[in-house]
Amino acid sequence: MTARILASSAAPVRQSSVRAHNLALALQTVANSANPLSRASISAATGLTRATVSALVDDLIAGGLLTELDPPPRTGAGRPAAGLALASEGPAGLGMEINVDYLAACVVDLGGTVRHRLVEHADQRLSDPPTALGHLARLARRARTLAGDLRLAGAALAVPGLVSPDGVVRVAPNLGWQDVDAAALLREQLGVPVTVDNEANLAALSELRTTGGPSFVYISGEIGIGAGIVLDGVLYRGMRGWSGEIGHLSVHPDGPECRCGARGCLERYAGQEAILRAAGVTELTDIDATAAPALGEAASALGLALAGVVNLLDVDTLVLGGSYAPLVPWLRDGIAAELRRHVLTAELAPITLRAAALGADAAMRGAADAVIRSVLEDPATWLSGAGRT
Ligand SMILES: [Zn+2]
Repeated sequence: MTARILASSAAPVRQSSVRAHNLALALQTVANSANPLSRASISAATGLTRATVSALVDDLIAGGLLTELDPPPRTGAGRPAAGLALASEGPAGLGMEINVDYLAACVVDLGGTVRHRLVEHADQRLSDPPTALGHLARLARRARTLAGDLRLAGAALAVPGLVSPDGVVRVAPNLGWQDVDAAALLREQLGVPVTVDNEANLAALSELRTTGGPSFVYISGEIGIGAGIVLDGVLYRGMRGWSGEIGHLSVHPDGPECRCGARGCLERYAGQEAILRAAGVTELTDIDATAAPALGEAASALGLALAGVVNLLDVDTLVLGGSYAPLVPWLRDGIAAELRRHVLTAELAPITLRAAALGADAAMRGAADAVIRSVLEDPATWLSGAGRT
């Protein structure tokens, strides 16, 4: 690794790659600022000359990535500078999610605003992948139209399963899918580049951007249960990208059989179906304080699994997302009791247990954000036309 970095930094740097680097630097400086920036402030923040910044900014405006806002009213001598901001009518990201009991799509603009979102409840268990993804593509196209037909920079899909880097869903036990080339199937339908990632990973990235982290484990509770591990501000994906399968931690080795083939998995005690069954209701929204005692077994199982996570990773924050987010008041005490019992350092360091910031939309928001980030990190490709649709 080190040798490769040395070799590449010793090679002469091409003019085009300097420009690509500087375009990204200028664009990200604007993206990271809470207020519109002048060319002079970009120059001051980046160390690039004013002439260079002006040329870069002109290119970014012409390519639809930056927009020039009207200058604020004159308050003293001199002409106030026009502020630069990310163009809300610039390239947008399409975020999609397929989960066991719903399909969802949203369009997020370059500034991070959700322009439209659609959620459709439909059972996807043992669904035929081309049919299910065709259905999702239609939902996504509708969201795109309702968002004002913004140009898409690309699309990303969140799935409840293990995904290989080329966008193939290797296994999604609760959908009954195996080796499904979801990226290719959706690319064909949508006509834009598509990436695919695990839903808990994408939701954890959303949480990281919303709250700043820096270290936490995000637990996404749906029919299945996944986890996104964020350490020092970076998502830990594991060697092959398959980390976080907390739903298949065994909490009772002799427990009931799971869809994965093993026994006593956490999902069998704390997945959405187990929670609804325990509470004696058909909708999560029907669960209130009176149902809290019935969620005791789910809370204990979750607490036991999470105690193992804390003992292993030494994180101080656990974030409950997906369908768990609104249930935190009824799950909290049961989880905390197991953490106190099983976490070695429980007496030494408190553990924060909280609901996710973005609720149920976190995974598809994370998917749309992944597209937006790819533009912010490499605006030169977008400007060259390769990224336009
Ligand atoms: Zn299992």
